[in-house]
Amino acid sequence: MSANVRLIMDSRPAIAIHWLGSCGGCEETILDLAEELPRVMDRVRIAFCPMLTDFKVADLDGQPDGSLLAAFISGCVITDEHAEMAALLRRKSRIVVAFGACAHLGGVPGLANQFGLRRVTDAVRADGKRRDVRTGSEPELPSIAQSVRTLDQVIPVDHCLPGCPPTAAMFETALTAIINAAAGPMGKVLAPDVAVCDECPRKDTRRAETTVAEIRRIPWVEIDPDLCLLNQGILCLGPGTRSGCGAACIRANMPCTGCFGPTSGARDHGGKLISAAAAAIAGEDADAIRKAFAGLADPVGSLYRYSLPASLLRGRRS
Ligand code: SF4
Ligand code: SF4
Repeated sequence: MSANVRLIMDSRPAIAIHWLGSCGGCEETILDLAEELPRVMDRVRIAFCPMLTDFKVADLDGQPDGSLLAAFISGCVITDEHAEMAALLRRKSRIVVAFGACAHLGGVPGLANQFGLRRVTDAVRADGKRRDVRTGSEPELPSIAQSVRTLDQVIPVDHCLPGCPPTAAMFETALTAIINAAAGPMGKVLAPDVAVCDECPRKDTRRAETTVAEIRRIPWVEIDPDLCLLNQGILCLGPGTRSGCGAACIRANMPCTGCFGPTSGARDHGGKLISAAAAAIAGEDADAIRKAFAGLADPVGSLYRYSLPASLLRGRRS
C-alpha cells in the first residue's frame, strides 16, 4: 500500500507541532511521556512536525485550510518567518494552542524587550551585522522585529498550555480534551486557576503576618527544606503564579520563579508578584521596604522573567 493511500485511509485527527523562538524544551515535554508516548500519540496523525522528521513548509501549505484539528505552537515571535509560520498554522488548524511560557507570555527571550531587539542583536554583533560563522559573509536571514511578541499578539489563540516547560501530563490532558472537544472556551489556560502555594507541600508553614526583613539571594542562604521559602526571605513567586506543576521547584528546594504565569485574576504578573512579596516584608516605612528589596538584584528579570511581552509594560517602545 502506498504512503498516499495509507494517509487517505488514516481517519485519526491530524495535528501539527512547531516551534518559533524557543529552546525546544516544550517539545522535550512530549518525549517525557516516555513509554506512554506511543499510546498518547497513536490517537492522532502528525501532519507537520519538523522537529520529528523532514517536513517542509510545502507539506503544510498543501493541506486544505482548517483540515488539522490542532496546532501546538511553542516559542515567541521574533522574526518575520515566525509570524508567517504562525499565520500558516492558524489557517490550517481549527484549534491553536500556545504551547509553553514563550508562546503564552513571551518567556525568557521576552526580557530582550527591556532594551529593544535591535540593541540586543547589535550588542552581540560587534558591527551590527550578522555573519556566517564559516564564511564570514553576511547571510540571508529572516528579519528581526522591533520586539518579542507572544503568540496571541500575532494570531488568534484558542488555548494556552503554560509552563517552562508544561508537564507531560498537561500535554496529554490537553490533547485528550481537544480530541474530545472538551477543552473549554476560547482563551482558556489549560491549567488550574489557583496559585502554586495551594499545591505546595510547605503551605502550612507560610505565615500570614509580615516577617521578612530582607530579600536574600539563594547562593548566600542555607535553605530550610521544610519551611515556606518566602518566610525565609527567599523570593518565591508561588503566591502570584498559576499552579499545575505540582510545585515542582519547591519540591526540589528551589523557589518558584513564575513560569506558569498569572492566575486569571491578575492582569499583570510582575505587579501581582511584587505585591505578594511586599506583603511579606516586615517594615512599613519606605526606607525599610527599600532596604528589604535591595537584595533583589534584577527586579525586571525576577518579576517578569517569563511575562514581559504580555505585561502592561511590554518593554521599551523605541
Ligand atoms: S511562597 Fe513558595 S514556599 Fe511558600 S507556600 Fe507559597 S509556593 Fe510554597
Ligand atoms: S514551581 Fe513555579 S517556576 Fe517551578 S515549575 Fe512550577 S510554576 Fe514553574
